[in-house]
Amino acid sequence: MAVARPSLDDLDAGIRAGDRAMLARAITLVESTKPAHFEQAQALLERLLPDTGGAQRLGISGVPGVGKSTFIESLGGHLTGRGHKVAVLAVDPSSGRSGGAILGDKTRMATLATDPNAFIRPSPAAGVLGGVARASRETLLLCEAAGYDVVIVETVGTGQSETEVADMVDFFLVLMLPGAGDELQGIKKGILELADMIAVNKADMDARAAERAARDYRSALHILTPESANWSPPVVTCAGLSGDGLAALWDEVERHRQVMTASGERDRRRREQRRIWLWRMVEGRLLAALKRHGGVRETVTAVEARVAEGRLPAAKACEEILAAFLGQAAVDA
Ligand code: GDP
Repeated sequence: MAVARPSLDDLDAGIRAGDRAMLARAITLVESTKPAHFEQAQALLERLLPDTGGAQRLGISGVPGVGKSTFIESLGGHLTGRGHKVAVLAVDPSSGRSGGAILGDKTRMATLATDPNAFIRPSPAAGVLGGVARASRETLLLCEAAGYDVVIVETVGTGQSETEVADMVDFFLVLMLPGAGDELQGIKKGILELADMIAVNKADMDARAAERAARDYRSALHILTPESANWSPPVVTCAGLSGDGLAALWDEVERHRQVMTASGERDRRRREQRRIWLWRMVEGRLLAALKRHGGVRETVTAVEARVAEGRLPAAKACEEILAAFLGQAAVDA
């Protein structure tokens, strides 16, 4: 039997009261592919927005196997033990396609999943209106309205999703493996630029190798100009499995919050992030509308192959597609 859909008032009140079932229902709306749900989710978000923003937003990235879920399980337990309420979300652009989320999986964080002060939500499936990351960003806001004061967003080491997660958090932590320092050449420079801290994980396996890797990352970071004059990304070693180094790591996250709040950078970064999200969404929706447009489809079919074969300049084809979408007059204006 279908459960009656809660009203906007029920959702609003339930989330503010920290009701996990209501929070889960609201997240389902945010992740839905149905336009009616999208509208309801947006109405709810608009109501809740004044009561969001209270969490320390932490992004965690690293290649599969680096120890993300083990690390989050330990760090999450450490934080709930200190009185925090912790939400764990995931951004996995491949989920849905691969037939199951590989991130934010409750079975991989079994202890945290049963902690009454933790809330774990796996990645939305691909195909969500406006993208997987949009849904996670809105879920982050819902969790804040529900009183979670630490929100961890987990992602894999792939370019686009890392940027999207870095653009929704206050602090972006990159987990690395010891030994990987030997292949520093192979690290994507982009990831170092996004990192507010690098943690060499699994240091329990070989402390000296971990320290060596940390030194290498320190010198690699040293070459880069830090994004903030007030923060040089530190490199630490830790072990998610034993919990070693996690308290010190969290102290650094706290220090970052204090420094960035005092300098006004935290607010500035959040303002900039909201602006970036707006335009990313406008781009996405415009493109979706363009691709659905009947007249455009015909033009695309006509010009795309010729561009691919190098027989038509891309800029000319672009003009033709835009003219089919907006009308020639709008393109010329
Ligand atoms: P994820 O794919 O990044 O989420 O990685 P997992 O957390 O699933 O960990 C991958 C494997 O590494 C598992 O077998 C873990 O038990 C192991 N592992 C995770 N953290 C540590 C650690 O700190 N030390 C050691 N020795 N092993 C770890």
